[in-house]
Amino acid sequence: MEIILSKFSGYCYGVKKAVSVADESIDKYEDIYSLGSLIHNKRAVEKLKNKGLQVVDKLEEKNKNIIFRSHGVEKKYYDYASKHNLNVIDTTCIYVKKIHQIVEEKYREGYEIIIVGSKKHPEVIGINSWSDYKAQFVEDIADTGRLDIDDEKSYAVVFQTTFNIEKYTKIVEILKEKIKNIEIFNTICSATKKRQDFALQLAEEVDMMIVIGDTSSSNSKKLYELASEKVKSIFIEDVAELEETMFDGVQKLGVTAGASTPDFVIDEVIDYLKKID
Ligand code: SF4
Repeated sequence: MEIILSKFSGYCYGVKKAVSVADESIDKYEDIYSLGSLIHNKRAVEKLKNKGLQVVDKLEEKNKNIIFRSHGVEKKYYDYASKHNLNVIDTTCIYVKKIHQIVEEKYREGYEIIIVGSKKHPEVIGINSWSDYKAQFVEDIADTGRLDIDDEKSYAVVFQTTFNIEKYTKIVEILKEKIKNIEIFNTICSATKKRQDFALQLAEEVDMMIVIGDTSSSNSKKLYELASEKVKSIFIEDVAELEETMFDGVQKLGVTAGASTPDFVIDEVIDYLKKID
């Protein structure tokens, strides 16, 4: 069986940076916390926890050294940290930070905010906090019909960084038709786009695809969604979920991994696959 690993798979720029900053901070500070999971991958987070990182789900004064995760946190945590003089190690990815800035600025200028993405995703909750939680959401094309639009108002639209590129153009087209005063910011990050483009391309060349990622990772799930539309695909968190019989009759196998999947998890899968005849 030929195994082809997608050219763009695994840690993106933002996640790589967050993990390395966290790693250094664990060495530097005796007591170090992260607010929520640093990245969306249980095994990577477990590794950091074993090294000394303490993951908390609410911020308290005792969390003197606190890491803010790569996909961003809500504004209230910056306010709390500043009020209580906490040392914030901010690993929010620059692309997510950019969205916070756009939303904060446009909201302050009086724009209504529309966020295209999954409203329960922590990144989106974080983004919404910069508009005082007043944004409207579009999770899918059908939601555009449910938006509350006032022609007298201006609207700023941002996208969750991991939003599906295939749906982007359609949604932009509908929103432009529906809203008179609109400013659209394409905030889908290039790492996501590259992973999606290459996964799609690979899915067209192979008999089967494996997508490796955590079930909490939205970009991994989107890779799976896209690959599944082209070819038989499976989604796994790690090698433990694989069985040889899954690959009966497969000549060419494509492998990709979400932006929060560590190399060691990908390597374990590849090593396993190489042993199958
Ligand atoms: S997927 Fe993009 S926005 Fe998210 S952490 Fe990676 S580089 Fe940053």
